[in-house]
Amino acid sequence: MHELSIATAIVEQAEEIARADGVDGVSSVTVRVGELAGVVPDALHFAFEVARDGTALAAARLVVEQVTARAWCGGCAEEFAVGMPPFFWCPRCDQPSQDLRSGRELEITGVEAVP
Ligand SMILES: [Zn+2]
Repeated sequence: MHELSIATAIVEQAEEIARADGVDGVSSVTVRVGELAGVVPDALHFAFEVARDGTALAAARLVVEQVTARAWCGGCAEEFAVGMPPFFWCPRCDQPSQDLRSGRELEITGVEAVP
């Protein structure tokens, strides 16, 4: 499963961050996941529960912040949501745009220590 390797990487990175801060246990880790990152949040939650076993994140909660995929339209000078599956077409001026500005994120944004 693709999400398991991602969850394992999240756990390893969060452990490193915690260790660098001198923290023994992590209570929660927050990740930003873009709509087009190819990650299913439910599958990621499930994989996280497997990956966290025996680590500093054994009791940690995974918080997934989903990021809407948005593209930029030069004609309107505005962003628009491309939807899922993505449709790269500005709804305002009815022109195509491939200029994706967000939606591919896959990053840790927070690691909370056990109080
Ligand atoms: Zn437009």
